Amino acid sequence: MPPDQGFLCDCGKPATIRQAWTDANPGRRFYRCGAAWRSVCDFFQWRDLEKPHGWQKTALLEARDVIRGRRKR
Ligand SMILES: [Zn+2]
Repeated sequence: MPPDQGFLCDCGKPATIRQAWTDANPGRRFYRCGAAWRSVCDFFQWRDLEKPHGWQKTALLEARDVIRGRRKR
């Protein structure tokens, strides 16, 4: 993904945007180190300041579980 807003991680690379799919933060975007995976630093920053909540959170979790094949239709 392209860098956004010019964030730099702790090792000076443009941070990349990732998306969380945990139960607490489905679909919430965050920045991680932009270096190659072998040399990533511990840089972490949320891009979406608000946690997912309400029907959006429920819908996101259901979509995630369907994609992962956990739920039978
Ligand atoms: Zn880094």
